[in-house]
Amino acid sequence: MLFSIEPKHSLRDIFNRKEEVSTFQKALQSERLIILDGLRRIGKTSLLKAVLEEFDGYHVFIDCRAYFRNNLIDAEAFDKALIKGIEKTLKLGKLKKILKSISGLSFGGFGISIEDKGQETSLAEVLKNIDEALKGKRFILAFDEAQNLRFYRKGGKDLLNLFAYTYDNLRNFVIVLTGSEIGLLHDFLGIDDPDAPLFGRYLSEIRLQRFSQDKSLEFLRKGFEELAIDVSEKVLERVVDELDGIVGYLSMYGYIYYKGNQVDALERTKEQAKKLVAKELGALIKRSMNYGYVLKAVSLHINRFSQIRTYIENNFGSISDPTLSKILNTLVKQSFLEQEYVDGVKRYSIPDPVVEYVCRE
Ligand code: ADP
Repeated sequence: MLFSIEPKHSLRDIFNRKEEVSTFQKALQSERLIILDGLRRIGKTSLLKAVLEEFDGYHVFIDCRAYFRNNLIDAEAFDKALIKGIEKTLKLGKLKKILKSISGLSFGGFGISIEDKGQETSLAEVLKNIDEALKGKRFILAFDEAQNLRFYRKGGKDLLNLFAYTYDNLRNFVIVLTGSEIGLLHDFLGIDDPDAPLFGRYLSEIRLQRFSQDKSLEFLRKGFEELAIDVSEKVLERVVDELDGIVGYLSMYGYIYYKGNQVDALERTKEQAKKLVAKELGALIKRSMNYGYVLKAVSLHINRFSQIRTYIENNFGSISDPTLSKILNTLVKQSFLEQEYVDGVKRYSIPDPVVEYVCRE
């Protein structure tokens, strides 16, 4: 059903992403390092899961958010999940014999070895064994919300080394990374950084955009049609006006409506979405109230550097240019803000309407 609140698992349930699905499927057959990025709740996980589900090859899916403990990735739990995922894939596929080489493996990142019956094996070696057995089929290592891997030990360097080794040596493996915090994901990968393990590798990037107004309306109509519920065009137009083409909010609205809240479904959706966003912004604001002040200014359409500084100084206290610049930069990298040049002047905007509602309050 279109109005589910979990990520989709099947291409049948994926609305309006034909081109992206096709580009992604082709990339899985021809590329080695792919990123799938876009705003939060724009549909990255759904697209990834649905495409992998039908993919003619092997895959492991890791949600990088699931291993957070005290602001760091619990490396042991993460490693275990990765190894278990690989084991499960090997068991399901025709690669059972390789399982032997993996028994006793405990992965501590690239180059970190394990003892198995007196012999040492590293994950890189295991992947090499798998690569040789793949016979042309591809094996996808997919990491969802991968900007979080910078919180893996050593700033994620072990993993980046593993990715670089895989990219350079194992031609049947493909690494797929999704990210909502687009700038942070690029920084983490360091493709343009001569000191980073992945420097200079080719990165294939697929950016998911919001639905147009027409497509958003079509999505709502189709979802309600599926449930045999009649909702007036006027109501749907208002929903799209307020939630924009972010499919996660639209499907949340449909779900809430379907669950019996016809009268105030839009208000309830906004409240629920605002709670999610407030949680996501919470960590930033805890680091510095300046993030909140800047977002508040932009939510009020005060959108140029000097205007934002004046607004903060008039309302909250002084802020230096370097501090403001750093705060704006971080907000852009985390995709809470977007920047564009209008008549040669940089202007900021909030791409997610719910973030705007939260910050304006
Ligand atoms: P992201 O990974 O970008 O945060 P998700 O894949 O988790 O986004 O999607 C957010 C919500 O939107 C989920 O409830 C999912 O079911 C729904 N959704 C995402 N993409 C689509 C799509 N193309 N068609 C229908 N529903 C979608």
